[in-house]
Amino acid sequence: MNNWIRPEIQQLTAYHVPKSGNAIKLDAMENPYSWSVAYKEAWLEILRNASLNRYPESSADEIKQQLRSVMKIPDDMSIILGNGSDELIQMLALALNDEGRVLLAPEPSFVMYRMIANFVRMQYIGVPLQVGDFELDMFAMLEDIEIHQPALIFLAYPNNPTGNAFSTDDIEAILETANGLVVIDEAYAPFAEHTFIHYLHEYPNLLVMRTLSKLGLAGLRLGFLVGSSEWLGEIEKLRLPYNINTLTQLSTVFALQNYDVLEQQTKQIKQDRERLAIQLEAMDGIHVWPSQANFLLFQTKNAKKVFDRLKARNVLIKCLHGSHPTLENCLRVTVGTPEENNIFLQVLEQVIET
Ligand SMILES: *Cc1c(COP(=O)(O)O)cnc(C)c1O
Repeated sequence: MNNWIRPEIQQLTAYHVPKSGNAIKLDAMENPYSWSVAYKEAWLEILRNASLNRYPESSADEIKQQLRSVMKIPDDMSIILGNGSDELIQMLALALNDEGRVLLAPEPSFVMYRMIANFVRMQYIGVPLQVGDFELDMFAMLEDIEIHQPALIFLAYPNNPTGNAFSTDDIEAILETANGLVVIDEAYAPFAEHTFIHYLHEYPNLLVMRTLSKLGLAGLRLGFLVGSSEWLGEIEKLRLPYNINTLTQLSTVFALQNYDVLEQQTKQIKQDRERLAIQLEAMDGIHVWPSQANFLLFQTKNAKKVFDRLKARNVLIKCLHGSHPTLENCLRVTVGTPEENNIFLQVLEQVIET
């Protein structure tokens, strides 16, 4: 085996997802709300007619139509669906990789950019964000773009795990400087104040990526790319047939037809985020960063210990300490229901070191 599996794959550790059991799960940016009984019944009624003996509809056009209308996607832009946006990142890397090609992203950011670059043997350049405010370090970004001429740049807007939305002026400067493809990853768009969808007409090297995961449908695995048919027509060739399964197609169409349910939940999460941020910041020895996503990044003394103690008391968040130099003693908590947030705050108060 050692002779055949590529060394860089052997060196990887598989993406670790902790088992959550019955813990209060505030580690994965999921929407904490489930569906009402009546709403679930209506959904199950639709699944009753699913033909599981048949292959799914390959292009899943009905999902695309629904997405266009609820997400206000311009009519002249194309859409590609992925089995989560992770699959789209992989398709993009496969399409743009070649001898000496570079994938560039700021760091810390979404770990799959680096991992997938590794999978497909694309050279990865991580450009550190500014210490303190996690804004783009534009001197370093523009210099690295000039030097490496990346084929592919990923900008998470808002950024995970820092929660901030980069300056739009900085992103425009990157779009103007980059010769390759720039993908703005708007996984947290439902919680943010701004989108780059309307920049697509202006910048021919821009694609916008979204997902339904953070919106409330993480279990369905549906991501999508929006952009010109010139770009997407090529990327589409790499899409495996039937990547969006029948149950996901039926469930997504149902959920998008009832988009107001998701919007209402999102609105609630945004309000609760503000309350949680204020309460966290008021605690001794905690610093919270501003967030336009459904999670908060905060810093505390002995973060790893605090994380372990929370976990031992059945509250699961994410420990970022050790994952990047700028994230020393940092933890990330997803905004839960008001009850979950209260329990988190109470337990944190008990285990924190001041
Ligand atoms: C969660 C996340 C994704 C992954 O989304 P899936 O559609 O669930 O694969 C992509 N980008 C960022 C920045 C994320 O935080």
